[in-house]
Amino acid sequence: MTASRDSAAIERLRASHRGPVLAPAEPGYEEARKVWNGMIDRRPGIIAQATGVADVVAAVNFAREQGLNVAVRGGGHSAAGNGVCDDNLVVDLRHMKGIHVDPATRRARVQGGVTLGEMDRETQVHGLAVPAGTNSTTGVAGLTLGGGLGWLMGSYGLTIDNLLSCEVVTADGRVLTASHAENPDLFWALRGGGGNFGVVTSFEFQAHRVGPMLVGGIIVHPVSEARQVFSFWNDFRATCPDELTLFAVIAGAPDGSGNIISALAGAYSGSIEEGEKAVRPLKEFGQPLMDAMGPLPFVALQSMLDEGFQPGMLVYWKAEFLRELTPAAIDAIVEIGEKMPSPLSAVVLEDMHGAVRRVAPDATAYGQRDATTNMAVISAWTDPAESDKNIAWAREVMKVAEPYKTGGTYMNYFGVDDQGEERVRQALGANYDRLREVKRRYDPTNMFRFNQNIAP
Ligand code: FAD
Repeated sequence: MTASRDSAAIERLRASHRGPVLAPAEPGYEEARKVWNGMIDRRPGIIAQATGVADVVAAVNFAREQGLNVAVRGGGHSAAGNGVCDDNLVVDLRHMKGIHVDPATRRARVQGGVTLGEMDRETQVHGLAVPAGTNSTTGVAGLTLGGGLGWLMGSYGLTIDNLLSCEVVTADGRVLTASHAENPDLFWALRGGGGNFGVVTSFEFQAHRVGPMLVGGIIVHPVSEARQVFSFWNDFRATCPDELTLFAVIAGAPDGSGNIISALAGAYSGSIEEGEKAVRPLKEFGQPLMDAMGPLPFVALQSMLDEGFQPGMLVYWKAEFLRELTPAAIDAIVEIGEKMPSPLSAVVLEDMHGAVRRVAPDATAYGQRDATTNMAVISAWTDPAESDKNIAWAREVMKVAEPYKTGGTYMNYFGVDDQGEERVRQALGANYDRLREVKRRYDPTNMFRFNQNIAP
């Protein structure tokens, strides 16, 4: 059945749902079906915009009764467009913005539609932060369910390493708590296994004392120095403390000039004094075009890259983990990386270090605890006439990097091409088979299939 054609059924859902229920051609529908990646153009049969857990239960029960599958939209940032589907039903959590922080226990309870910036705003009132990603507009939900890497990961691990419990609506319409004490199999799977197991209506996190000021930012070098910048980064990270998380980048210049630059971006999650000491070698390296690394508010750090990642751009995103970065690997990646056809694009090397790698590989579902270097190629442009050359460039970077790949990948960095069981196995590694058992238990009909899908 195509949900959009059955108006009587939609009226029944409306009667049990407090938030807007949008069908094609209705006001708000066109806006609601948009996601961050402008390449994605899907037309759901129904978009149910939940205002609370009861709405989510109503929508999931409705989908089951009508034989529909469900896409879940948290922040809409999936580059693969997994927050929206054709025909079926979207449970859209964008109105579920509740956040409660308990400063005594340093715990934060966050609903499924909250973005990182919204969470930081509330936690920072108490001088706290939940380790999460590097762009304030990303959804907490999708980021957490796939792992969650960001500026605080060296000290505190991935976002899932700070997750205490979830409230989940499963395919049979039950509302479950998942934690170490309750439904521990589900809790394990939710920490890295993606949106396969139900709709997570809220997350409970352990927050940490961070900010309000810390040392971080970006140091920009000419693209002609990219080899030296990547080599320096690669050597430096071997000695850098957990508190300092540092990425190396080739990207369009932050001044919007259209020039391509190379850069070091990072943050130190400790005192200002120690942070300034830790970043001194970065500031003394080479002859930067711009040095914007120093004390800044945590919330400014968390949004410093937002400008470059505007919603609606056309994006072809690829990512792989790399083995040891030899000089030959750096040469090869830089040579093709600096030829990016669009200044909206980026090649990012992320150092997976410290607390992230001290968690046992099977302690959570996240499948890449051993990986040290994540390479993301974010090819972005605005003119559809330029799609072919921008996609070809990203594929070329990945081809050149082929000999240096580990074979593992990060599920949250899936792009439009990343489909099928083999790709999901590459992300989840040895945890895949156990995840499939959990999937069978909680979603045997694969109602939640618009994701990095683990077929039951
Ligand atoms: P959505 O598109 O809404 O959802 C993504 C997936 O999660 C879908 O499969 C969806 O079904 C599922 N899902 C969402 N909400 C729920 C829920 N409540 N219950 C069950 N399933 C749900 N990742 C990092 O780790 N670190 C970063 O620093 C980082 N930076 C990024 C910056 C940008 C600009 C972008 C576009 C992405 C970035 N990512 C980063 C990747 C990001 O983690 C993923 O795109 C993630 O899926 C986004 O979550 P979302 O809720 O915004 O996305």
